Amino acid sequence: MFKVAVIGTGYVGLTTAIGLASLGHEVVGYDIDPSKVEQLKAGILPIYEPGLDQMLTDVLATGKLRATSNLSEALVNAEFVFTCVPTPQDEDGSADLSYVISASKEMKDLLAPGAIVVTKSTVPVGSASQVEDAIGRADVHVASNPEFLREGAAVIDFKNPDRIVVGARSTEVAQRVMDLYAVIDCPKVLTSQPAAELIKYASNSFLAIKLSYVNDIAALCEAAGADPLEVMHGMGLDSRIGDRFLAPGPGWGGSCFPKDTRALASISAGFGIAIPLIDAAIVSNEKAHKRVVDRVMQELGGSLVGKTIAVLGLTFKANTDDTRQSPAIAVIERLIGRGAKVVAFDPIVSAYSLAGLKVAASPTAAASDADALVVLTEWPEFGKLNPADLLTAMRGTCVVDTRNILNKTNWQAAGAIFPDLKNS
Ligand code: NAD
Repeated sequence: MFKVAVIGTGYVGLTTAIGLASLGHEVVGYDIDPSKVEQLKAGILPIYEPGLDQMLTDVLATGKLRATSNLSEALVNAEFVFTCVPTPQDEDGSADLSYVISASKEMKDLLAPGAIVVTKSTVPVGSASQVEDAIGRADVHVASNPEFLREGAAVIDFKNPDRIVVGARSTEVAQRVMDLYAVIDCPKVLTSQPAAELIKYASNSFLAIKLSYVNDIAALCEAAGADPLEVMHGMGLDSRIGDRFLAPGPGWGGSCFPKDTRALASISAGFGIAIPLIDAAIVSNEKAHKRVVDRVMQELGGSLVGKTIAVLGLTFKANTDDTRQSPAIAVIERLIGRGAKVVAFDPIVSAYSLAGLKVAASPTAAASDADALVVLTEWPEFGKLNPADLLTAMRGTCVVDTRNILNKTNWQAAGAIFPDLKNS
């Protein structure tokens, strides 16, 4: 078992720290935000992530996980130091490496001799060299171990990942990082730093492109009178396509896809390699947001001025509290921009600051006096709602289910009208 420090205890850092501690490693979590450290010490998970709270309780009880606001205390004996800090989108679309570089500079004089600094943050190809320069120590190694967890399924993904990728200058260093995951049975890819860095961006951009394609095909299906779900089912049976990630929706979002697609476009442009599919996927995604609003407007007579729209779901997907770059928020902003008032309900998010948006305490409260109801996140509980309860509370009958989670037959029987999309 090894001594590990995790720098940055957000969605990725928490999963990494708690996950590695659950494997038996001695882990110290460090964050510049003292409130997160205090919560961790108290056994409170600062985010909503199913199953991770119980794992936190367990690893605190075994003493395998500690949290600290003192960087030197975190690093003093650490053989591995995982950097899990943000890499947000810069103004020009490129990835902002400043958090990774400043974390590297903060730790450089505190690292134990022979330590391996492992970048888990999603970073552009070539970043490992910049981290090496920022640390500037011949006795410290740098490796890249990109994270592929899905929020809402982070525990499952930690325990049963599709693959683990580690890139380093030497196979020996990469193997030492991989040894941390020895008990996890999955394909393990030892590779170079640039390959590890690119695998992450290439994967996320591929998934975003796939979803954009799915959303565009779903729009075509509707225009042509075909059920999008039947078409996706038929496509997914082709093993070259696969049945995962074929669900049409209001557009993709979250803290990764929007910034990672733009970053890869910027990276490829920097190498003089055009990848027009990425740009097309980004444009398609904005159209997906717009199509939701168009559909509501069509049904409500062409204008949303003075209308009240009930929304179910604020998070970018179910089973998370994360609203960063949520397509639900993107759609809500467009609805508000068209003159609507929006009242939303989300099972986890009870407050959100946006002019024109109110967050209600229940689906029925959100539906009260609404002219239309729009489902924007696939929370399973929305599929169990009683249509009569909501339709009785509403003023109108228009229902737009962007996640195909409602039982359409039951809702139609209760009086709901699901508008078709025309000419969008
Ligand atoms: P996050 O914002 O949830 O967490 C980042 C944490 O780092 C915060 O708690 C912040 O206080 C802390 N931090 C910032 N600067 C620091 C410093 N100098 N020292 C110590 N702590 C510092 O971000 P996240 O969602 O966990 O993402 C982290 C990285 O992982 C990003 O590069 C992201 O692209 C990548 N990633 C995220 C996901 C995901 O689903 N969230 C999945 C794969 C990869």
